[in-house]
Amino acid sequence: MSGPLDVALLIGGEDRAASDGATFERHGPLGDGVASRAAAATVADADAAAAAAGAALPAWAALGPNARRRLLLDAADAMEARAVDFIACMAAETGASAGWAGFNVHLGAGLLREAAALTTQVKGETIPSDRPGCHAMTVRRPAGVVLGIAPWNAPVILGVRAIATPLACGNTVVLKASEQCPATHRLIGAVLRDAGFPAGVVNVITNAPKDAGAVVAALVRHPAVRRINFTGSTHVGRIIATLAAQELKPCLLELGGKAPMVVLDDADLDAAVAAAGFGAYMNSGQICMSTERIILEQPIAAAFVARFRERVAGLVAGDPRRENAPLGSVVDEATADRIRHLVADAVDKGAAVYGDWLRPGTLMPAILLDGVTPDMRIYAEESFGPVTTILRAADEEEAVRIANDTEYGLTSAVFSQNIARALRVAERIEAGMVHINGATVHDEAQMPFGGTKSSGYGRFGGEAGIAEFTELKWITIDTQTPHWP
Ligand code: NAD
Repeated sequence: MSGPLDVALLIGGEDRAASDGATFERHGPLGDGVASRAAAATVADADAAAAAAGAALPAWAALGPNARRRLLLDAADAMEARAVDFIACMAAETGASAGWAGFNVHLGAGLLREAAALTTQVKGETIPSDRPGCHAMTVRRPAGVVLGIAPWNAPVILGVRAIATPLACGNTVVLKASEQCPATHRLIGAVLRDAGFPAGVVNVITNAPKDAGAVVAALVRHPAVRRINFTGSTHVGRIIATLAAQELKPCLLELGGKAPMVVLDDADLDAAVAAAGFGAYMNSGQICMSTERIILEQPIAAAFVARFRERVAGLVAGDPRRENAPLGSVVDEATADRIRHLVADAVDKGAAVYGDWLRPGTLMPAILLDGVTPDMRIYAEESFGPVTTILRAADEEEAVRIANDTEYGLTSAVFSQNIARALRVAERIEAGMVHINGATVHDEAQMPFGGTKSSGYGRFGGEAGIAEFTELKWITIDTQTPHWP
């Protein structure tokens, strides 16, 4: 790629500069200058995007489901056709490995295809009424303009997820891009526009980091905006939930995680080691579903750690634009420093560490902490980096207690060859998702994805997503004149 990527706002189908002409720069994590230069939206631009989406709503909502389906399918093909551009954008802006970026495009297109399938599933029902001659039914109608706010770590998947089901249901959308990957998020808008989505149906706003609060507040408060979905940190999720509550607007929150993987003493250890390696270190651990805690029943703990250490040793990091290493970089220097501080705190308090954690820079290798205890910061804090922790449990009861000893509740995993036992544990884990004999990192477009506790509320995916982004209306028809008192 030559020179930084230039990023314009997408409002009403047009590429636009910010109303005051301001731009901001995204510096890539690998220390070689400006990756992208994006329009820095003002509050007036945010209002214009919401208004454009509002103006496009009636025609889009009136379009038949098969016309919406066709456009979503075309967009999926167009996204795959531009895989090389998405992979280059992600490498430049976030340092993502080619493997992770390619998977983003694959699942992003999958989300668009699943949304295409949902267009004909926006259904109501008939309900028996107690009133003689009364026919009662429900219909689902588009909610209005949907605001989607996405993070940088899986930018194609989460940018598409923020808008695909809303579009399928007949809503128009404003995607608020992450400041760390404005070009990647904006490319989603370009793909949908090129696939034929009418002007104003999909709008994309990029903003300077200092303006995030004001731009988001303007979008949440805009009268055309009727639903908000936010994927990001629990800290910002609380800000969004408070803003939305003031406006009495429903929101869906997909927030942080501290996923546990429970390995019982009758587990297939080879399978558990493989799942832990994938779940903990994919995208350098910068995934909300990352395996942050591996909870081992004592009898198999030593054997698991010995095998897992061998796997961790091979997980080195490299510049994704030049080499095909298993790990890319973490998103920026500040993140690398934060992770090293978390590891240092654990080491100071007695944890054993494996992996070259003192290596400077953003190319961090896989790191494993053994003997982690509740007084260490990493016991409770989301690392969101290439670090996982080992905790030991005396028995199944203690394993469940440790798994639930967290404010988060997004995803989890249980390994056991005794399925009844695994299911018993799965039912007791406080999380929105539990994978038996699978990795904590598992996402499929048609599944109800979401968490509990401080990991948020609401569900993307499948029919659960339709309920989030439609208004349910009850309609009655009286065929006999009722006898009112
Ligand atoms: P973040 O919360 O810092 O940023 C997310 C979005 O919030 C960005 O678009 C940003 O512009 C916006 N934002 C930042 N400050 C704001 C403010 N004051 N007011 C309004 N908006 C503001 O998160 P991030 O660093 O981009 O992503 C990492 C976090 O996201 C991790 O905690 C991770 O677990 C979580 N995450 C969750 C899921 C999920 O599906 N549950 C998926 C991916 C990431």
